[in-house]
Amino acid sequence: MPTFWDCDRCTACCRWPGDVRLGPGELERIADHLGLGAEDFIARFTRLDRHRAGLSLVENPDGSCVFLEGRDCRIQEVKPRQCRGFPNLWNFPGFEKACHAVPHDVGEDEWRRRVEAACGERPSSLPPRA
Ligand code: SF4
Ligand code: SF4
Repeated sequence: MPTFWDCDRCTACCRWPGDVRLGPGELERIADHLGLGAEDFIARFTRLDRHRAGLSLVENPDGSCVFLEGRDCRIQEVKPRQCRGFPNLWNFPGFEKACHAVPHDVGEDEWRRRVEAACGERPSSLPPRA
């Protein structure tokens, strides 16, 4: 039975060190949301990711994401897939130790429905094993 992880908005994943990668179309969507041109957005809010293979959002001096405001995401409506997908579409061994999402064991159809509502896309396969 798959587990749906219900985010409690603890914001831990917005404070971890590492890349917040921008996928196809995300840069333009976020820039538009902020009322910025793509070049301005790139200059102010992005850097090369650690593999030098794409763009990542920049961090604040304390390591938190530049778009974290208190417990809110300033770009919630258009946040990158990497953010939307954690921890239901991707995660890593032991993530539960740092993430406060509440587990719910549900049927497969219900899991797909909840993931689509939470992540904005219908999952094509069953969840990754935690
Ligand atoms: S874009 Fe929003 S959800 Fe993603 S890491 Fe930054 S603050 Fe968190
Ligand atoms: S996904 Fe997990 S770590 Fe990120 S805000 Fe939700 S509960 Fe916290």
